[in-house]
Amino acid sequence: MRVSQLFTKTSKTVPSDEVAKNAQLLIRAGFIHKEMAGVYAYLPLGLRVLENIKKIVREEMNAIGGQEVMMTTLQPKDIWEKTDRWDDAKVDNWFKTKLTNGTELGVGLTHEEPVVDALSAYINSYKDLPIFTYQIQNKFRNELRAKSGLLRGREFVMKDMYSFARSQEEHDEMYERAAVAYHKVYRRLGLGDFTYRVKADGGIFTERFSDEFQTLSSVGEDTLFHVPDTDEYFNEEVAPAQAPAVTPVPDESLAEFEEVEAAGVIGVAVLAELLGIPFEKTTKTMLYTSDTGETIAAVVRGGYDINEIKLRKIVGARKLVLADEATVKRVTGAEVGYAGILNLAADVRVIVDESCANRTNFEMGANRTNFHATNVNWGRDLPLPEEFYDIKVARKGDVHPESGKTYELHRAVEVGNIFPLESKYTDALGVYYTNEEGKQESIIMGCYGIGVSRLMGVIAEHFSDDKGLVWPENIAPAKVYLVRIGGEVATKHADELYDELMGKGIEVMYDDRDERPGTKFADSELIGIPHRVTVSDRLIEADSYEYTPRMSGVSEVLTHDQLLGKLN
Ligand code: ATP
Ligand code: MG
Repeated sequence: MRVSQLFTKTSKTVPSDEVAKNAQLLIRAGFIHKEMAGVYAYLPLGLRVLENIKKIVREEMNAIGGQEVMMTTLQPKDIWEKTDRWDDAKVDNWFKTKLTNGTELGVGLTHEEPVVDALSAYINSYKDLPIFTYQIQNKFRNELRAKSGLLRGREFVMKDMYSFARSQEEHDEMYERAAVAYHKVYRRLGLGDFTYRVKADGGIFTERFSDEFQTLSSVGEDTLFHVPDTDEYFNEEVAPAQAPAVTPVPDESLAEFEEVEAAGVIGVAVLAELLGIPFEKTTKTMLYTSDTGETIAAVVRGGYDINEIKLRKIVGARKLVLADEATVKRVTGAEVGYAGILNLAADVRVIVDESCANRTNFEMGANRTNFHATNVNWGRDLPLPEEFYDIKVARKGDVHPESGKTYELHRAVEVGNIFPLESKYTDALGVYYTNEEGKQESIIMGCYGIGVSRLMGVIAEHFSDDKGLVWPENIAPAKVYLVRIGGEVATKHADELYDELMGKGIEVMYDDRDERPGTKFADSELIGIPHRVTVSDRLIEADSYEYTPRMSGVSEVLTHDQLLGKLN
């Protein structure tokens, strides 16, 4: 590739509408073009990187038996209705459109339904299974916020694979095989040393976890909870958490129950200060209505938030919404803001977090407008719950209950997600197989995503310095950046080297422009090609080349043979 012919140009100006380093660098270096927030086009250099990432992903999916397909972006409504994923209330980030005759269509955001539908034509007997099939395709999601460049797009490239197995055991084996392939992908992309398999939510109907692959990054949206000295990582959404004990007060005898007027006091910090107690002695009670019509009071100690994923699993609900004003008034007898579990209506199901155990003289909403109860005690003012649960969002300082170790927290970006689906989609779409005895059986399914374009963003974030991008060799848009300095003689020599290297299958970006050397060097650094080679009149006289790896930036003068040795 001759730089003189490349239509993209580098820019020194940081785009003012981009806060993410990956987008800033990739735009300045001419790899991508921002169409609108969360929507980027891939220009020649960017497309090369994207294709190099895809190649690695493809090779590893093929290696475990993946058969590549390409599903459609336009999606018919009926198959998604069968699995109850069409309704915007159920899946809130669909883009949808219509045919001129009014028929509604969805714009593909994932592909479980169409893959099952397509395969239904080919799956009859046990002999037709197992199957691994995958695609690499643009996905469309109406993301609420798209501010992190390629990390969160509204249109983005995903690899999505689907497995179909005859039994849970067969599924589990395929699932683990996919996990191994995922580790290989991240290792080949240079992210292996800081990409971890992390337990995450497995969805509404199962106790199982899914597994995310998370790459450590300060710009990550996710928080990982690591059990120190183990390879156990949890996503914040599922991390089992035990609250650190409340700082003990010596010989605390039970004080007299009191109701204190504190109209309009919102937030535990203010309340704790007003009452003159540590905030761990305050209590947060939230009232929810479940899709099964139950009213639930969820109770955590001050400083914690309620984890609706954990709560939903405990109460067996598919959906929880905060109870409306009328319900709050009915069950507490007070205005919103003063809820506790003292004298609640009898039909409310109370779930108390373990952080609320082992406290004396604590605060709680009094279920009386404008009042908070203080010096509340289990067993005296309230029956001690038969069971305490874990319904809180894990926080710094929390303990992993099983090991008793305090979690270490890390920021990370989700670069992949593998998910056991059991037979939810296959059953819903009526796709079964007949076993050896001729009996109809459910098909166990898994899905496996990799954020291909997000990975390009993650790599750009991680492998970069103040001069620009620093691509790992196997995904760089070219291996060598050839800088020509000087006139006719230099041109002849540089042309020859270009032809020679390209002839050997070494991809070269040849800066054959009539620009100042400083400009060429700066561009080679911004674009981030791993090896720079300079040809100049002075070097030709000495029968040598200047060689500079992008990573170290330390130049050496080499003979022709030495140079080829470096580049091979
Ligand atoms: P997130 O929690 O980040 O929104 P997700 O769990 O919804 O992601 P999946 O449906 O599991 O995503 O998609 C598989 C992979 O696709 C993710 O692991 C991630 O790497 C990537 N991905 C998901 N959403 C986006 C997006 N908006 N932009 C870029 N990549 C994405
Ligand atoms: Mg995910």
